[in-house]
Amino acid sequence: MSKNILLFLLLAVSALTAQKTTSDQLAQFDFQKLQARLEIRPEQQEVLGSVHFTFAILEQADTLKIDGRKMEFSEVLLNGEKARFYTDDTGIYVLSTFAPSVSNELDLKYTAYPESAMYFINWQDKTPEAAREVWTQGQGKYTSNWLPSFDELREKLEFDLTYIFPKSYQLIANGLLKSRSENDSLITWQYDMEKPMSSYLVGMAAAQFDSLTENAASGVPLKMYFRKPEAGKAEATYRYSKEIFDFFEKEIGVPFPWQNYKQLPVVNFLYGGMENTGTTIFAESLMTDSIGFNDQNYVNVNAHELAHQWFGDLVTEHSGKHHWLNEGFATYYALLAEKEIFGEDYYYWKLYQTAEQLKEASDSGKGQAVLRTGNNSLTYYQKGAWVLHMLREQVGDAAFREGIKNYLNHYSFQNPTTEKFLTEMELVSGQDLEQFKKDWLEQSAFKASQALESLKRSEFIQQYLQVAGLREFPLEDKKELLRAALDFPVNDYTGQEAVHQLQGENSQVAYDLFEKALESGNLYVRQAVAQTMENIPQIFKKQFEGLLNDDSYITKEISFFKLWSQFPESRPAYFKKLKEVEGFYNKNVRMLWLTLNLVTPDYEPGKNADYYQELAGYAEKWQPIEIQQNAFSYLYQISAFNDASLESVILGTGNPNSGFRNYCRQLLQELLKSQEYRERLEALAEGMDAKAVSYLQSKLSP
Ligand SMILES: [Zn+2]
Repeated sequence: MSKNILLFLLLAVSALTAQKTTSDQLAQFDFQKLQARLEIRPEQQEVLGSVHFTFAILEQADTLKIDGRKMEFSEVLLNGEKARFYTDDTGIYVLSTFAPSVSNELDLKYTAYPESAMYFINWQDKTPEAAREVWTQGQGKYTSNWLPSFDELREKLEFDLTYIFPKSYQLIANGLLKSRSENDSLITWQYDMEKPMSSYLVGMAAAQFDSLTENAASGVPLKMYFRKPEAGKAEATYRYSKEIFDFFEKEIGVPFPWQNYKQLPVVNFLYGGMENTGTTIFAESLMTDSIGFNDQNYVNVNAHELAHQWFGDLVTEHSGKHHWLNEGFATYYALLAEKEIFGEDYYYWKLYQTAEQLKEASDSGKGQAVLRTGNNSLTYYQKGAWVLHMLREQVGDAAFREGIKNYLNHYSFQNPTTEKFLTEMELVSGQDLEQFKKDWLEQSAFKASQALESLKRSEFIQQYLQVAGLREFPLEDKKELLRAALDFPVNDYTGQEAVHQLQGENSQVAYDLFEKALESGNLYVRQAVAQTMENIPQIFKKQFEGLLNDDSYITKEISFFKLWSQFPESRPAYFKKLKEVEGFYNKNVRMLWLTLNLVTPDYEPGKNADYYQELAGYAEKWQPIEIQQNAFSYLYQISAFNDASLESVILGTGNPNSGFRNYCRQLLQELLKSQEYRERLEALAEGMDAKAVSYLQSKLSP
């Protein structure tokens, strides 16, 4: 047989079988377990592994597909015998006469060079302070980029993975660490799971981690990781973790389904967090100290990813159309946890805000039915959460909780549809939910008036809406009502709303109200003053300066800038006061301080070079992307990019994090408008990797 004919035959076979998707395979094969041993080589950005599958054959078949993207496979053994197979960019097809039988084995060796789903951070960079990490993101990216597995989420199996990784790093993955052994340069980490899950929930992260441990009321170990330089933020970041965990076990009524729960912050993550089974990975930029906690904290993501351990991981959506069964549930339960921690006003406030967004989308014809594929996240997450809020009101607390419990128990380790969930709710409530399904799950419009009726059960929302209803009135007509809204004890949201209505007002009445707001002592109402007051009269200066002391990095940043602008004679005092303040993870206060210092020529002129070095240093390519981005924005404002920071912008245009990538792309287009920057960018591009400069090249020669 000539080579060409063989090639033709192979193509014909693959053309036929490529039609077959992994979901068709569900009827033919049932995978039980994947045992794998993989060596991750971070400097080479490659994975070498051997995997062992055990499975049953349910129906006669001739092809078995394992997903494995752009992998090189070797030593393919089916039940111990060399097997026939071919591969394409999406995986390996094993050919045999598969006859129904209970226990079968497939072994293969592979090499992967993951382009997505596994990310290698800073392994080419020699900067000592750089965080060197490897972490994964399966959902939306496919675990099969680094581990032969199943893109189809209905194929659930047990994963027992052993990882080999360079010494001096901690490697954390799904399940229980059964053993850890090391030789001269490598550590072998053996993890063991007991229950099956979808492949997109496989996750690992390796970094120089430290950790805190607590035990839940039920005894489940809760392990909370952090990089050593972030140790000072561990307490505030993980605040309420145990409370949330204990609350969920009680509220949901089904014990936490996995062996342990670990949370891992990683640099340059793609999203807020990801609910890998028992092993949540989240953006390190959510880490915060106690002051930052007041404005931005990890509590919501913490609760959301933990809720997924039941809704998503234990019981997984049947398919994309039912995505709200994962995201709507996680969003709703996170809200319940926040209600427990921050109170009922907070709960209704968040629901009110999302109702406003949903109503706006709906009114402009952009409403989406929850039960549909291809929705935006507003629909799956927020409208999905509203579905559960309304359903609970309709069937009552007791029936709702009973229905949830039955749903989880009946469909554990399975992939139910929305209809199965509703049937459970009908059984416990005795109600026909057909109309509810039409109104809330199948209708693209948002039922805004029903939502408003529900929100009005909160007295706080009623008061808030009264104040918000004054927006269009002249100040003279509403001053007494605004004053009343600022009476002790002032509500965070109503108080802020009253202050925001003073925007652009310069009358004595307005300043009296500003003063009352400042005297309330409420952090958020005072923050609203910092945001709203444009001209600070001399007699107000002292009080406004008091905002620099508030426990809010937002308030500090805004009031610092306004005071610096309006009172040049007091600048030295402001610089001195905020000299030691870093601010949020992205160093918002520090970078503003450095920038204002650089543009204040008569203040510390001898230190300008140092301060510029520090600011430009935050734009270096090894810095976390949130820090780089903030530094870019200041360097842009003062037109002070050096070559290293320009290189960072170029590299950023190819970053896997879409928010940062888009920011860098827009910034690069702005920079290219300047002849000087254009020339420097062109010169830099010559010394850089072709792939890294592809976006820049496309803009240089359109
Ligand atoms: Zn989620």
